Amino acid sequence: MPRIDNDIKLDFKDVLLRPKRSTLKSRSEVELLRSFTFRNSKQSYHGIPIVAANMDTVGTFEMARALSKFSLFTAIHKHYTLEQWKEFAVDNPDCLQNIAASAGTGPSDLERLTAILELLPDIRYICLDVANGYSEHFVELVKAVRKRFPDHTIMAGNVVTGEMVEELILAGADIIKVGIGPGSVCTTRIKTGVGYPQLSAVIECADAAHGLKGHIMSDGGCTCPGDVAKAFGAGADFVMLGGMFSGHSQCGGATIEKDGKKYKLFYGMSSETAMKKHAGGVADYRASEGKSVEVEFKGDVESTIRDILGGVRSTCTYVGAAKLKELSRRTTFIRVTQQLNTLFN
Ligand code: 5GP
Repeated sequence: MPRIDNDIKLDFKDVLLRPKRSTLKSRSEVELLRSFTFRNSKQSYHGIPIVAANMDTVGTFEMARALSKFSLFTAIHKHYTLEQWKEFAVDNPDCLQNIAASAGTGPSDLERLTAILELLPDIRYICLDVANGYSEHFVELVKAVRKRFPDHTIMAGNVVTGEMVEELILAGADIIKVGIGPGSVCTTRIKTGVGYPQLSAVIECADAAHGLKGHIMSDGGCTCPGDVAKAFGAGADFVMLGGMFSGHSQCGGATIEKDGKKYKLFYGMSSETAMKKHAGGVADYRASEGKSVEVEFKGDVESTIRDILGGVRSTCTYVGAAKLKELSRRTTFIRVTQQLNTLFN
């Protein structure tokens, strides 16, 4: 007989943050920089833990240059050649501490990752990304990469439940990516019916990870700066964004002109668009669990970065957190039935 978990699980849209009495005078007093020391790599991190997703539209070298100026992080997508990596590293030595090299589970992925890391020892982060982080095969991959790179910081995922967070941390990962199905161009929930409401996933996975001195990254589902703040409030150490960073000058993907308006193509890494673009690559079991959209061109990503950072700083002042580090401790979520006034929507 199938089991039903009757506990209510929540998404970002189901809650608001309750304001609290505070001594902070202005949002400019809020410190968004965080420092972490990772459980397995023993390395330390210092920066604003907001991360551009390792999608080929968003996790670009151009994005890394822009984000790094603000101490944000970029998970570089896995489709750059070794030559492109070398060029980028030579021209942008200051960015290297704020980027990760990515790989999936394909054998050529691991080869390319190894080549990049051997060529560029200043790259200290690895992002191991599969749609389904629950497979035994993936756990074995994490173990193998940990063995090969004992002091690189490994991000791995995606999963949505505490027991799998623990397993991946024990296998050698440092930062577990949390999120199955919440992404803006993800169709997993439609195609498979599988998923987990993102806010609850983050709360539960953060608890599991922090118990082992591990870290988590909320990945997917943020639609506005308020959602980023809620993810941090729920206990995420890092927040990864795809859609919110899409549509900018720094993005990959075609620019489209229609009726005098500019758009940028944004697509899931398992969408048909991505499959076609990278055809000839390893057969991907994520096939067709992603879609393609045309995003209105938003110009330079710098204004979006300022908007997100301004929003999160303001959240911190509302709840009385002088530092981003204090945000989750100062968080009380209120369940709501409506978020926004829709009069002008
Ligand atoms: P967003 O910030 O756009 O809501 O979510 C970004 C995340 O969506 C990515 O970091 C990745 O985990 C996930 N994602 C990207 N492409 C695909 C896809 O084609 N299919 C699925 N299921 N998830 C995707």
